Amino acid sequence: MQNTIKSLANGLKNKEFSSVELTTDYLNFINKSDLNAFITITDELAISQAKAADQNIANNSFNILTGMPYAHKDIFCTKGVKTSAGSKMLDNFISPYNATVSDKLDNSGAVMLGKTNLDEFAMGSSNENSYYGAVKNPWNLNKTPGGSSGGSAAAVAGELSVFATGTDTGGSIRQPSSLCGITGIKPTYGLVSRYGMIAYASSFDQAGVMTKTAEDSAILLNLIAGFDEKDSTSVNRNNEDYLKTINDSIQGLTIGLPKEFFSDGLDDKVANKIMLAVKEFESMGLKVKDISLPHSNYAIPSYYIIASCECSSNLLRLDGVRYGHRCQDPKDLQDLYLRSRSEGFGDEVKRRIMVGTYALSAGYYDAYYLKAQKARRLISDDFQKAFQSVDVIMGPVSPTTAFDLASIHDSASMYLSDIYTLSVNLAGLPAMSVPAGFSQNLPVGLQLIGNHWSEAKLLNIAHKFQEQTNFHNQTPAKI
Ligand code: GLN
Repeated sequence: MQNTIKSLANGLKNKEFSSVELTTDYLNFINKSDLNAFITITDELAISQAKAADQNIANNSFNILTGMPYAHKDIFCTKGVKTSAGSKMLDNFISPYNATVSDKLDNSGAVMLGKTNLDEFAMGSSNENSYYGAVKNPWNLNKTPGGSSGGSAAAVAGELSVFATGTDTGGSIRQPSSLCGITGIKPTYGLVSRYGMIAYASSFDQAGVMTKTAEDSAILLNLIAGFDEKDSTSVNRNNEDYLKTINDSIQGLTIGLPKEFFSDGLDDKVANKIMLAVKEFESMGLKVKDISLPHSNYAIPSYYIIASCECSSNLLRLDGVRYGHRCQDPKDLQDLYLRSRSEGFGDEVKRRIMVGTYALSAGYYDAYYLKAQKARRLISDDFQKAFQSVDVIMGPVSPTTAFDLASIHDSASMYLSDIYTLSVNLAGLPAMSVPAGFSQNLPVGLQLIGNHWSEAKLLNIAHKFQEQTNFHNQTPAKI
């Protein structure tokens, strides 16, 4: 049996097994695993949540997520549980409150197995920037699972959890989903509350989910989407039912293939799998149109300028005074700030704070930050133009399959792995990664990009593809 939310919920409802049994199994898998997918395992909490869920199921008061074990990215605040954001800075931080997403999961009766590993403050594409060490890709232990939600992706692909949460600032849900062969959705900016999600780059950060199937993603999006008055960037619009249209016919839709997403840097074998997936859609009655997103080249520089500027401001609050790491025996206030921050942050975080502070300083602001914002608008306009003639844009998520751990040493090369994901965040659009094949036993993810608020359509398209294909059902050999 495939361990999806849908299938396991039936087992729980029909009392084939209890949530305590299911949760115990998963906790055992996690304890035996050497993927390093978790920073904190919340076993006692999980068992008590599972017991409560079993009680509710016995009393006939439950929903599809009641008793369902999941893994929570360690960037969502969880009341009473360590929330580290992958940083030494927050190694001692026990959150006094829940993120809205955490609250919604708690209220649904889902069972939190633990908090997953990530690049420090979600900055990275390989999970190697974590204070808690790199995560391994369950398909090949010498490879990265991608980042920054590497722990979440490895947990779902490696059968350590039924589903996981993620956040996507520049690709952190889609790229690890692609590299680990699972389904992930990054919603439209503003659809899911950012309240209690430790901020990296506030104008990009968006919460989403990582699952085995598009149907499971729809179930979870129904739970976590929606207006939240505690997040001023959350958008007040009517809630949708993402399951309602998941079986709709997709015949006659037009796919746009941007030529910039199939350029030189793309691995031939990855390109080949993406084109086979597009052919599959053609055989399902979709039309294909070549399009151009002419400002795509500016995505990497503008994203890395704006995100660094925003992070330099967001991370100011971590000063060793209010909470977080504090150095030993500071001799004065200046020394306290300097040493606490120097000791608490890792290299990549420091690099971005420095780049951001520089780019925002008087005299450089116009040349860098303002310029990058102008490029951001052009990139966004390219998409709006494209969506006048196509329903969905398709392409690769990542230019390669999972790369070797410790193989990329300079930040600029690492930034190249985000080449196909960043423009989506610059434009605030929804996008998915859907398993689309394998190259040398490593998964390849197909990216689906839609216009704002088109999550229902993306999930519908992904679900129809998963009805025709079997890639999402593949699981790595247990190691
Ligand atoms: N890899 C990108 C970065 O390092 C995106 C990370 C993310 O989406 N959180 O900023």
